[in-house]
Amino acid sequence: MPPRPEWMASDRLLTASEVLRLAGIFVKSYGISKIRFTGGEPLVRPDATGIIESVARLGVETAVTTNGILLHHFLPLFREIGLSGLNVSLDTLNPQKFTRLTLRNAFTQVWDNILRALDRGFHVKLNMVVMRGWNEDELVDFVGLTRNLPLHVRFIEYMPFRGNGWNSGSVFTYREMLESIGREYPVEKIEDPKYSTSKSYRVPGFAGTFGVISTVSQPFCGTCNRIRLTADGTLRNCLFTRDEINLREALRKGEPVEPLIEKAVLLKHRQHGGLPGFGEQAVTTTLSARSMAAIGG
Ligand code: SF4
Repeated sequence: MPPRPEWMASDRLLTASEVLRLAGIFVKSYGISKIRFTGGEPLVRPDATGIIESVARLGVETAVTTNGILLHHFLPLFREIGLSGLNVSLDTLNPQKFTRLTLRNAFTQVWDNILRALDRGFHVKLNMVVMRGWNEDELVDFVGLTRNLPLHVRFIEYMPFRGNGWNSGSVFTYREMLESIGREYPVEKIEDPKYSTSKSYRVPGFAGTFGVISTVSQPFCGTCNRIRLTADGTLRNCLFTRDEINLREALRKGEPVEPLIEKAVLLKHRQHGGLPGFGEQAVTTTLSARSMAAIGG
Protein backbone atom coordinates (compact mmCIF):
# COMPACT_ATOMS: atom_id res chain seq x y z
CA MET A 1 0.00 0.00 0.00
CA PRO A 2 1.52 3.35 -0.93
CA PRO A 3 1.81 5.69 2.10
CA ARG A 4 -0.13 8.40 0.28
CA PRO A 5 -2.41 6.85 -2.33
CA GLU A 6 -3.48 9.12 -5.15
CA TRP A 7 -7.26 8.95 -5.10
CA MET A 8 -8.91 9.00 -8.49
CA ALA A 9 -11.42 11.73 -9.34
CA SER A 10 -14.83 10.10 -9.02
CA ASP A 11 -15.95 11.14 -12.53
CA ARG A 12 -13.12 8.99 -13.88
CA LEU A 13 -14.48 5.89 -12.17
CA LEU A 14 -16.87 3.65 -14.05
CA THR A 15 -20.35 3.87 -12.59
CA ALA A 16 -22.11 0.69 -11.49
CA SER A 17 -24.21 0.65 -14.66
CA GLU A 18 -21.12 1.16 -16.86
CA VAL A 19 -19.40 -1.76 -15.13
CA LEU A 20 -22.46 -3.88 -15.77
CA ARG A 21 -22.75 -2.86 -19.42
CA LEU A 22 -19.12 -3.71 -20.08
CA ALA A 23 -19.39 -6.99 -18.16
CA GLY A 24 -22.42 -7.89 -20.29
CA ILE A 25 -20.48 -7.22 -23.51
CA PHE A 26 -17.54 -9.33 -22.36
CA VAL A 27 -19.81 -12.21 -21.40
CA LYS A 28 -22.26 -12.14 -24.32
CA SER A 29 -19.96 -11.13 -27.18
CA TYR A 30 -16.64 -12.63 -26.13
CA GLY A 31 -17.49 -15.69 -24.05
CA ILE A 32 -15.83 -14.49 -20.87
CA SER A 33 -16.83 -17.11 -18.32
CA LYS A 34 -15.31 -15.81 -15.11
CA ILE A 35 -15.18 -12.33 -13.61
CA ARG A 36 -12.99 -11.57 -10.62
CA PHE A 37 -13.32 -8.36 -8.63
CA THR A 38 -9.95 -7.25 -7.42
CA GLY A 39 -8.20 -4.08 -6.37
CA GLY A 40 -6.82 -1.91 -4.77
CA GLU A 41 -9.59 -3.18 -2.61
CA PRO A 42 -12.91 -3.91 -4.29
CA LEU A 43 -15.02 -4.17 -1.14
CA VAL A 44 -14.50 -0.52 -0.10
CA ARG A 45 -16.65 0.69 -2.97
CA PRO A 46 -20.02 1.73 -1.45
CA ASP A 47 -21.95 0.08 -4.30
CA ALA A 48 -19.85 -3.11 -4.30
CA THR A 49 -22.81 -5.30 -3.22
CA GLY A 50 -25.04 -4.20 -6.10
CA ILE A 51 -22.26 -4.53 -8.68
CA ILE A 52 -21.21 -8.01 -7.57
CA GLU A 53 -24.83 -9.19 -7.37
CA SER A 54 -25.67 -7.88 -10.86
CA VAL A 55 -22.55 -9.34 -12.46
CA ALA A 56 -23.24 -12.73 -10.86
CA ARG A 57 -26.70 -12.61 -12.49
CA LEU A 58 -25.00 -12.64 -15.91
CA GLY A 59 -24.41 -16.33 -15.23
CA VAL A 60 -20.61 -16.16 -15.00
CA GLU A 61 -18.36 -17.58 -12.33
CA THR A 62 -17.78 -14.73 -9.91
CA ALA A 63 -14.69 -14.39 -7.76
CA VAL A 64 -13.16 -11.80 -5.44
CA THR A 65 -9.66 -10.90 -4.32
CA THR A 66 -9.70 -8.83 -1.14
CA ASN A 67 -7.48 -7.64 1.68
CA GLY A 68 -10.03 -9.31 3.99
CA ILE A 69 -10.71 -6.31 6.23
CA LEU A 70 -14.40 -5.93 5.29
CA LEU A 71 -14.96 -9.56 4.34
CA HIS A 72 -17.35 -10.35 7.23
CA HIS A 73 -19.92 -7.90 5.78
CA PHE A 74 -19.91 -9.71 2.43
CA LEU A 75 -19.97 -13.40 3.34
CA PRO A 76 -23.81 -13.66 3.25
CA LEU A 77 -23.85 -12.08 -0.24
CA PHE A 78 -21.05 -14.38 -1.42
CA ARG A 79 -22.98 -17.41 -0.18
CA GLU A 80 -26.16 -16.21 -1.89
CA ILE A 81 -24.52 -15.69 -5.30
CA GLY A 82 -22.44 -18.87 -5.06
CA LEU A 83 -19.09 -17.07 -5.24
CA SER A 84 -16.67 -19.44 -6.92
CA GLY A 85 -13.36 -18.08 -5.67
CA LEU A 86 -12.29 -16.10 -2.65
CA ASN A 87 -8.68 -14.92 -2.52
CA VAL A 88 -7.35 -13.01 0.46
CA SER A 89 -4.06 -11.13 0.25
CA LEU A 90 -1.95 -11.80 3.34
CA ASP A 91 1.81 -11.27 3.22
CA THR A 92 2.66 -12.08 6.83
CA LEU A 93 1.37 -13.87 9.90
CA ASN A 94 3.09 -11.39 12.19
CA PRO A 95 0.67 -8.64 13.33
CA GLN A 96 3.39 -5.96 13.70
CA LYS A 97 4.85 -6.72 10.28
CA PHE A 98 1.32 -6.69 8.86
CA THR A 99 0.87 -3.13 10.14
CA ARG A 100 4.21 -2.04 8.68
CA LEU A 101 3.43 -3.56 5.27
CA THR A 102 -0.18 -2.52 4.90
CA LEU A 103 -0.23 0.64 7.04
CA ARG A 104 -3.34 -0.82 8.69
CA ASN A 105 -3.55 -2.28 12.19
CA ALA A 106 -5.93 -5.00 11.06
CA PHE A 107 -4.21 -8.37 11.22
CA THR A 108 -6.63 -9.86 13.78
CA GLN A 109 -9.65 -8.73 11.82
CA VAL A 110 -8.30 -10.21 8.59
CA TRP A 111 -7.34 -13.48 10.23
CA ASP A 112 -10.73 -13.79 11.96
CA ASN A 113 -12.43 -13.18 8.63
CA ILE A 114 -10.37 -15.89 6.93
CA LEU A 115 -11.46 -18.36 9.64
CA ARG A 116 -15.08 -17.19 9.32
CA ALA A 117 -15.00 -17.79 5.56
CA LEU A 118 -13.52 -21.26 6.02
CA ASP A 119 -16.15 -22.03 8.66
CA ARG A 120 -18.88 -21.12 6.19
CA GLY A 121 -17.44 -23.53 3.65
CA PHE A 122 -15.72 -21.11 1.25
CA HIS A 123 -12.65 -22.35 -0.57
CA VAL A 124 -10.16 -19.68 0.47
CA LYS A 125 -6.86 -18.96 -1.25
CA LEU A 126 -4.29 -16.90 0.62
CA ASN A 127 -2.05 -14.79 -1.64
CA MET A 128 1.36 -14.09 -0.13
CA VAL A 129 3.83 -11.96 -2.09
CA VAL A 130 7.26 -13.22 -1.06
CA MET A 131 9.79 -10.39 -0.68
CA ARG A 132 13.38 -11.19 0.24
CA GLY A 133 14.30 -9.56 3.51
CA TRP A 134 10.65 -9.08 4.49
CA ASN A 135 8.84 -12.36 4.74
CA GLU A 136 10.67 -15.25 3.09
CA ASP A 137 11.31 -16.60 6.59
CA GLU A 138 7.54 -17.18 6.97
CA LEU A 139 7.07 -19.63 4.08
CA VAL A 140 7.20 -22.64 6.39
CA ASP A 141 4.69 -21.02 8.79
CA PHE A 142 2.27 -20.44 5.91
CA VAL A 143 2.60 -24.05 4.74
CA GLY A 144 2.08 -25.05 8.40
CA LEU A 145 -1.38 -23.44 8.23
CA THR A 146 -2.41 -26.05 5.67
CA ARG A 147 -1.86 -28.86 8.19
CA ASN A 148 -5.33 -28.38 9.70
CA LEU A 149 -6.98 -25.70 7.59
CA PRO A 150 -8.30 -26.51 4.09
CA LEU A 151 -6.60 -23.42 2.63
CA HIS A 152 -4.72 -23.06 -0.62
CA VAL A 153 -1.74 -20.78 0.07
CA ARG A 154 -0.20 -19.16 -3.00
CA PHE A 155 3.34 -17.82 -2.84
CA ILE A 156 3.79 -15.10 -5.44
CA GLU A 157 7.18 -14.00 -6.73
CA TYR A 158 7.71 -10.29 -6.13
CA MET A 159 7.03 -8.40 -9.38
CA PRO A 160 8.15 -4.90 -10.37
CA PHE A 161 5.46 -2.22 -10.41
CA ARG A 162 5.73 1.52 -10.35
CA GLY A 163 6.73 2.71 -6.88
CA ASN A 164 6.86 -0.70 -5.12
CA GLY A 165 10.59 -0.63 -4.35
CA TRP A 166 11.33 -3.77 -6.39
CA ASN A 167 14.83 -4.75 -7.43
CA SER A 168 16.02 -8.05 -8.87
CA GLY A 169 17.66 -8.97 -5.54
CA SER A 170 14.32 -8.74 -3.77
CA VAL A 171 12.85 -11.66 -5.73
CA PHE A 172 12.78 -14.89 -3.74
CA THR A 173 12.41 -17.36 -6.58
CA TYR A 174 10.16 -20.37 -7.09
CA ARG A 175 13.17 -22.67 -6.74
CA GLU A 176 14.31 -21.01 -3.52
CA MET A 177 10.78 -21.26 -2.11
CA LEU A 178 10.58 -24.99 -2.78
CA GLU A 179 14.03 -25.54 -1.30
CA SER A 180 13.12 -23.60 1.82
CA ILE A 181 9.81 -25.44 2.33
CA GLY A 182 11.41 -28.77 1.45
CA ARG A 183 13.88 -28.40 4.33
CA GLU A 184 10.93 -28.57 6.75
CA TYR A 185 8.30 -30.68 5.00
CA PRO A 186 8.09 -33.48 2.45
CA VAL A 187 6.49 -31.86 -0.59
CA GLU A 188 4.49 -33.57 -3.31
CA LYS A 189 3.48 -32.06 -6.70
CA ILE A 190 -0.24 -32.21 -7.43
CA GLU A 191 -2.17 -31.58 -10.63
CA ASP A 192 -2.72 -27.94 -11.61
CA PRO A 193 -6.19 -26.88 -12.72
CA LYS A 194 -6.42 -25.85 -16.40
CA TYR A 195 -5.09 -22.29 -16.99
CA SER A 196 -3.93 -22.15 -13.38
CA THR A 197 -1.37 -19.46 -12.69
CA SER A 198 0.20 -21.40 -9.87
CA LYS A 199 2.12 -24.65 -9.65
CA SER A 200 0.42 -26.68 -6.95
CA TYR A 201 1.87 -28.82 -4.16
CA ARG A 202 0.90 -30.34 -0.87
CA VAL A 203 2.43 -31.88 2.16
CA PRO A 204 1.09 -35.46 2.34
CA GLY A 205 -1.59 -35.78 5.01
CA PHE A 206 -2.23 -32.03 5.30
CA ALA A 207 -5.78 -30.66 4.87
CA GLY A 208 -4.78 -27.82 2.54
CA THR A 209 -2.42 -27.26 -0.36
CA PHE A 210 -0.03 -24.59 -1.58
CA GLY A 211 1.22 -23.27 -4.87
CA VAL A 212 3.81 -20.94 -6.36
CA ILE A 213 3.18 -18.20 -8.92
CA SER A 214 6.52 -17.91 -10.66
CA THR A 215 5.89 -14.92 -12.95
CA VAL A 216 9.49 -13.67 -12.77
CA SER A 217 11.69 -16.78 -12.77
CA GLN A 218 9.49 -19.20 -14.75
CA PRO A 219 6.83 -17.25 -16.64
CA PHE A 220 3.62 -18.94 -17.78
CA CYS A 221 2.39 -16.21 -20.15
CA GLY A 222 1.72 -18.77 -22.90
CA THR A 223 -1.37 -20.02 -21.06
CA CYS A 224 -2.52 -16.63 -19.71
CA ASN A 225 -6.18 -16.11 -20.60
CA ARG A 226 -6.89 -13.04 -18.47
CA ILE A 227 -7.74 -9.48 -19.31
CA ARG A 228 -8.12 -6.64 -16.82
CA LEU A 229 -10.54 -3.76 -16.72
CA THR A 230 -9.47 -1.03 -14.31
CA ALA A 231 -11.81 0.98 -12.08
CA ASP A 232 -11.43 3.93 -14.47
CA GLY A 233 -12.43 1.88 -17.48
CA THR A 234 -9.18 1.06 -19.23
CA LEU A 235 -8.48 -2.35 -20.60
CA ARG A 236 -5.09 -3.93 -19.85
CA ASN A 237 -4.11 -7.10 -21.69
CA CYS A 238 -1.29 -7.93 -19.24
CA LEU A 239 -0.20 -6.90 -15.75
CA PHE A 240 2.88 -5.28 -17.31
CA THR A 241 1.36 -3.75 -20.41
CA ARG A 242 1.94 -0.12 -21.34
CA ASP A 243 -0.84 -0.27 -23.97
CA GLU A 244 -3.94 0.86 -22.10
CA ILE A 245 -7.16 1.12 -24.09
CA ASN A 246 -9.76 3.51 -22.72
CA LEU A 247 -13.27 2.03 -22.91
CA ARG A 248 -14.87 4.63 -20.63
CA GLU A 249 -14.56 7.48 -23.11
CA ALA A 250 -16.08 5.45 -25.94
CA LEU A 251 -18.88 4.21 -23.71
CA ARG A 252 -19.76 7.74 -22.59
CA LYS A 253 -19.73 9.03 -26.17
CA GLY A 254 -22.07 6.22 -27.19
CA GLU A 255 -19.44 4.66 -29.48
CA PRO A 256 -19.03 0.89 -29.85
CA VAL A 257 -16.42 -0.58 -27.53
CA GLU A 258 -16.05 -3.91 -29.34
CA PRO A 259 -13.35 -2.70 -31.78
CA LEU A 260 -11.34 -1.37 -28.83
CA ILE A 261 -11.66 -4.65 -26.93
CA GLU A 262 -10.47 -6.56 -29.99
CA LYS A 263 -7.57 -4.17 -30.48
CA ALA A 264 -6.50 -4.65 -26.84
CA VAL A 265 -6.50 -8.43 -27.22
CA LEU A 266 -4.53 -8.30 -30.49
CA LEU A 267 -1.93 -6.01 -28.91
CA LYS A 268 -1.09 -8.57 -26.25
CA HIS A 269 2.62 -9.39 -26.23
CA ARG A 270 4.00 -12.90 -26.12
CA GLN A 271 5.35 -12.41 -22.61
CA HIS A 272 5.36 -9.90 -19.74
CA GLY A 273 3.60 -7.19 -21.74
CA GLY A 274 6.70 -6.82 -23.93
CA LEU A 275 8.95 -5.93 -21.00
CA PRO A 276 12.53 -6.63 -22.15
CA GLY A 277 13.41 -8.85 -19.19
CA PHE A 278 13.56 -8.07 -15.51
CA GLY A 279 16.96 -6.35 -15.39
CA GLU A 280 17.01 -3.13 -13.31
CA GLN A 281 17.55 -0.95 -16.38
CA ALA A 282 14.74 -2.52 -18.42
CA VAL A 283 12.35 -2.32 -15.52
CA THR A 284 12.96 1.30 -14.58
CA THR A 285 12.73 2.57 -18.15
CA THR A 286 9.76 0.55 -19.39
CA LEU A 287 7.39 -0.02 -16.47
CA SER A 288 3.77 1.01 -16.86
CA ALA A 289 2.90 4.26 -15.08
CA ARG A 290 0.29 2.49 -12.95
CA SER A 291 1.10 1.15 -9.51
CA MET A 292 -0.14 -2.32 -8.59
CA ALA A 293 -2.72 -0.70 -6.30
CA ALA A 294 -4.21 0.95 -9.40
CA ILE A 295 -4.11 -2.18 -11.60
CA GLY A 296 -5.52 -5.02 -9.54
CA GLY A 297 -3.97 -8.46 -9.21
S1 SF4 B 1 0.83 -12.29 -19.95
FE1 SF4 B 1 1.07 -10.70 -18.37
S2 SF4 B 1 -0.66 -11.01 -17.00
FE2 SF4 B 1 -0.48 -12.87 -18.22
S3 SF4 B 1 0.84 -14.26 -17.00
FE3 SF4 B 1 2.21 -13.10 -18.36
S4 SF4 B 1 2.85 -11.34 -17.13
FE4 SF4 B 1 1.04 -12.16 -16.12
